[in-house]
Amino acid sequence: MNNIEENLARVRSNIDAAARRSGRNPAEVKLIGVTKTIDVERIRTLLSLGVNSLGENKPQELAEKYAALGNGPEWHLIGHLQTNKVRLIIDKAAMIHSVDSLRLAGEINRRAAAVGRVMDILVELNIAAEPSKHGIPPDKTLSFVEEISELENLRIRGLMCVAPNVDEPEKNRIFFAKMREIFIDIKNKCVHNIDMLDLSMGMTNDYEIAVEEGATIARIGTGIFGSRV
Ligand SMILES: *Cc1c(COP(=O)(O)O)cnc(C)c1O
Repeated sequence: MNNIEENLARVRSNIDAAARRSGRNPAEVKLIGVTKTIDVERIRTLLSLGVNSLGENKPQELAEKYAALGNGPEWHLIGHLQTNKVRLIIDKAAMIHSVDSLRLAGEINRRAAAVGRVMDILVELNIAAEPSKHGIPPDKTLSFVEEISELENLRIRGLMCVAPNVDEPEKNRIFFAKMREIFIDIKNKCVHNIDMLDLSMGMTNDYEIAVEEGATIARIGTGIFGSRV
């Protein structure tokens, strides 16, 4: 049996230590509990332990869990989003981490306007140029964010990546460092409607490295709930 409370305590203390190692305040790092495939009872346990930000990778699953748990938790859509699924989460998600095309950005903007809200979004980068992964190529990031900055019902809050699946997490340090460089370059350009505030990077295997390299959001599932089987 997996102990959510113990796992969470370990993850939190690892995040705190990684933040301190890089001279940062641990309070600057937000933990998102990734609840894909996790049942509502176990999610309630996590909420009771004070983790109020939840990440789902499928719009349908986010909508179902929202129906069960309501808008008390902050819901983050972290997985690939097809334009025809935006309507499922437009009034439920606090943030969409996976914006990776003009078409998707346009659809989120249109749907957000229709429900009278502004959606916080992150731009997903394919930081290691992996053929199997979604995301904007790193060298296209600035032109992409400039283009979508015209969309009034989007608020661009930062960047996100899913780093390569590696045996040794240290191997991902270069990718996290590159994310931070791009993040800072864009921040320094001071583009209208772009607030570079969040770097969403780091999962169970590599979050300590990601936090050392500047992550402000870590997305962790397995490290809290155990393996999804
Ligand atoms: C599943 C998932 C995570 C969490 O992965 P773990 O290795 O279980 O911590 C983080 N981000 C995204 C986009 C995911 O799909």
